[in-house]
Amino acid sequence: MNTPFEPGEPASKGMIPLLVPEIRGNEWRYIKDCLDTNWVSSVGAYVDRFERGIAQYQGAEYAVATASGTAALHIALLVAGVVPGDEVLVSSLTFVAPANAIRYCGAWPVFMDAEPEHLQMDPGKVAAFLERECEWQDGKLTNKASKRPIKAILPVHILGHSVDMDPILDLARRFDLVVIEDAAESLGAKYKDSFVGSLADIGCLSFNGNKVITTGGGGMIITDHSKWAERARYLTTQAKDDKVEFVHEEIGYNYRLTNIQAAMGTAQLEKLDEYIAVKREIAKRYSDGFRGVPGIEVVREGESSLSSCWLNTIRVEEAVTGRDSRELMGILRASGIQTRPLWHPIYTLPPHLQSQAYRIEVCDDAYAACLSLPSSVGLTPEAQDRVIENILHNVQK
Ligand SMILES: *Cc1c(COP(=O)(O)O)cnc(C)c1O
Repeated sequence: MNTPFEPGEPASKGMIPLLVPEIRGNEWRYIKDCLDTNWVSSVGAYVDRFERGIAQYQGAEYAVATASGTAALHIALLVAGVVPGDEVLVSSLTFVAPANAIRYCGAWPVFMDAEPEHLQMDPGKVAAFLERECEWQDGKLTNKASKRPIKAILPVHILGHSVDMDPILDLARRFDLVVIEDAAESLGAKYKDSFVGSLADIGCLSFNGNKVITTGGGGMIITDHSKWAERARYLTTQAKDDKVEFVHEEIGYNYRLTNIQAAMGTAQLEKLDEYIAVKREIAKRYSDGFRGVPGIEVVREGESSLSSCWLNTIRVEEAVTGRDSRELMGILRASGIQTRPLWHPIYTLPPHLQSQAYRIEVCDDAYAACLSLPSSVGLTPEAQDRVIENILHNVQK
């Protein structure tokens, strides 16, 4: 049989891709402006404008643009004071970037399970871990097993949804921990009345090609702490203490976003609300399409949150549908529909085998059963109906 494309590959013509960028605003105009004026590199009016735009959107004091979401996470951890040997509680069901960023700092992730309903970091298990597995030693909260200090919690808002943040923020206050939000997948999503990424001490966004808005590649650090924003700017620009004499007091990073990328981001940001409205429509169409279908369940937004519906995901109950998620992925692929499983449990991957995973019970099952469906802003209702009909046809006897 001819395989049209592999999961993870870009979809070819005539296929329905999982997630592709939507470029129909001022991108050409703003980027041409950079080229015409020679402001193409890591400083320029569009970098400032994009940072101000994101800060305003989020209702945050400061935004610092970075070369990627992963770079944003790395720097956020550094400015939050995470040092080698510290431990950071992080979602286990996520793309690997936040766990890697913790290791860049010489710190250790402790992987936290997801709750079964919305698949976000489980605050109950975070509480249980902090209450039962940690103790105060010399004024530092310490992991009894590893003897390492716990410094921070890094909840990851996945799929456009939101983590249940209030209990996490309460725990952070009780145990004197910093909270760093990874909102890379959930720009524009709200928890209660606030945008995710602005609920805690510091937040991170990504503008990678598959995110709700893109700069090709890029990220942003958001915070209300002026000192932290200043330090983030310093560390992302090679820790330059004297611009003329090239004096550097510390190891810095070349992590800045370019003006060209920021020009694209500025144009994309103008469309953000419109794109989220479309994405919520797409989510509703999937919800309606699978309502009452035995063995197919859409992963929904939490009660206190408003999802940006970044990536619509279903859980496929093999015992009921007679198909497991990977078999369904193969069938859909043969019909020109690109779908994708959630992330391989990262605590089982070689680079993270030495890190602790606490009572993981939900993640593995979610990884086995879930399939993410085409969710591009440009997905037409006709194409989406083809996806829904294909699935219904193959899971009902
Ligand atoms: C995309 C993503 C990131 C950042 O990715 P970059 O490609 O480095 O911008 C971080 N965390 C999560 C959960 C992501 O999905």
